[in-house]
Amino acid sequence: MNTREAKNRHNLLNWIELNRSALNKNIGSLAKLAGDRMLAVSVKANGYGHGLAEMVTLLKDENRVDYITMHSVSEAELARKSGWDRKIMLLGPFSTDETAAVIELDLEPMIFELGSLEQLGRLASQKNVVVKTHLKLETGTNRQGITEKELSKFAAVYQKYNGLLPYGAAMHFANIEDTTNHEYAQEQLDRFGELVICMKELGIDPEIKHTASSAALILFDKTRFDLVRPGLSAYGYWPSKETYLSYQLAGGGNDLFEPVLSWKTRVTQLKQVEKDSFIGYGCSYRTTATIKLAVLPIGYYDGYGRSLSNLAYVLIEGKRAPVRGRICMNLTMVDVTDVEGVKVGDEVTLIGQDGSEAVWADQLAEWGQTINYEVLARLSASIDRLAI
Ligand SMILES: *Cc1c(COP(=O)(O)O)cnc(C)c1O
Repeated sequence: MNTREAKNRHNLLNWIELNRSALNKNIGSLAKLAGDRMLAVSVKANGYGHGLAEMVTLLKDENRVDYITMHSVSEAELARKSGWDRKIMLLGPFSTDETAAVIELDLEPMIFELGSLEQLGRLASQKNVVVKTHLKLETGTNRQGITEKELSKFAAVYQKYNGLLPYGAAMHFANIEDTTNHEYAQEQLDRFGELVICMKELGIDPEIKHTASSAALILFDKTRFDLVRPGLSAYGYWPSKETYLSYQLAGGGNDLFEPVLSWKTRVTQLKQVEKDSFIGYGCSYRTTATIKLAVLPIGYYDGYGRSLSNLAYVLIEGKRAPVRGRICMNLTMVDVTDVEGVKVGDEVTLIGQDGSEAVWADQLAEWGQTINYEVLARLSASIDRLAI
């Protein structure tokens, strides 16, 4: 994402553009919602498909961001190599071999497994350092959390090692973005409160509490506590229609977020295909007239899902060009009969805006029967990323 690459954009056949001003706007909106709380932006899953190193570089300019959150130690290592010197919270597990790296990379791990806490405690004490940790409490997601019954064992490990600081108490909501009914979220919050009291009774007194992903942060002020952990919204997307609707019904505006990412390719071949011809694998599309067909050099390998076959459209010259036939591993065919003057080399928008038309990840998710999160996270890491 340096200027050399930016200059070479005209030679690229498949690239992602990252819009700095959209990111700045989104972080501004999140900072406003967060108030004086710490802001931890999720850059896991290759920065939600935007590119980990590129997102870290852009987030360095966003002074309001206190933390980035990562899933794995290897992601965190890449973030450090990309120059991130602020805090990193590690959300996922670390292996025995990675324990030393947790300390060396100065990560704040989320704790949910007794064995890894024990190893971390032993190593921290050996090295005579203090590691800030966050306890993930089980409140109803039944994924990573520590239950009330297990808490005393964790407390014993904290007591054993001076090098372990029980800095944060955390939880994650199970049912906040998929519904407009927030009863279950409230039950989880109540449970969280009870578990934090248990922690204190066991002598592990967390300095901070945090629970809020994007949807919780946007919709529920009482989930915000001392730190918020949004991911998707920082990239300019609403977690779901339900979140968007709930926010609108509560009187919120529509200008909080703007998508950061556009995905582009080029027409690499044009041809005329006669009436009654089949297009692509499986003969799933048959022409009903003579058409002009464009071949695009991207496919499901890149993250343009095969489930979009015969459903999606791309944008060329501000016009819709429908996908014809099955999406292949590296190629996709689109009908450009109605795109006047189209030529080889023309820019094609797969995700983004072109004139008055737009295709965002939400739309691709709807066609592909998935969610915007998955569309973004599956964008291949091998695509060039440019900041604009
Ligand atoms: C990914 C993640 C988030 C961010 O969720 P979004 O819905 O993308 O805002 C927050 N907390 C945890 C524990 C996560 O794993």
